[in-house]
Amino acid sequence: MIMKYSWILFDLDNTIYDFDASSDFALRKTFNEFDINDNEENIEKYKEINRQCWMDFEKGLLDFQTVRNIRFELFVQKLNLNIDPIEMTGRYLQLLSNTDFEIDGARDILDFLKPYYKMAVVTNGLKEVKRPQLSRPGIASYFAEIVISEEVGIAKPHNGFFEHTFERIGRPSKSKVIIIGDNLHSDIKGGKDYGIDTCWFNLKSRANDTEIRPTYEIGALAELKGILG
Ligand SMILES: [Mg+2]
Repeated sequence: MIMKYSWILFDLDNTIYDFDASSDFALRKTFNEFDINDNEENIEKYKEINRQCWMDFEKGLLDFQTVRNIRFELFVQKLNLNIDPIEMTGRYLQLLSNTDFEIDGARDILDFLKPYYKMAVVTNGLKEVKRPQLSRPGIASYFAEIVISEEVGIAKPHNGFFEHTFERIGRPSKSKVIIIGDNLHSDIKGGKDYGIDTCWFNLKSRANDTEIRPTYEIGALAELKGILG
């Protein structure tokens, strides 16, 4: 096997772990425990607030801990509920950190790649969710490094995040590193801007209506065998 790369950087959410399934599960369970109807309307209300908060985060208007705390605060206000949002936040994140729904073929491709490549997780998110998720014996053994944006203090797609990651993995040549992820902006643009190859995991076959061109595009993780095998 001829290996073009020495390091593979894996995004986590919706690349290895099924974040959509995880957040849906954790959110519904939280709603149930706090006697909130888990109908689509309420779920969507939370998701909209969540999206807006992370967008404000990206613009530098909010920091990690504010995003963490403000989402249920806004949600509780919006629905006029008499619930402690901090308690709700704690419960939701605890449930989320215990989820381990995986994307189809994730374990199989990690097993396939492990003997040949050094692998790292590069994830945008809160450490109180990501650390427990990634410290499970089953998953931790695949990755030589775990890089979490909250711990770095800066998120993908910013250069500083990749700079920090490269420091952690011993400054390999950029030509020997590839990032794999589902997000065209944070993973693919971030990787390209930093000067490494990229692989867009387009699980849902979305049209790419951006100017961002990945080095590779796949629709299933198993296709990585053709690129990296
Ligand atoms: Mg992702």
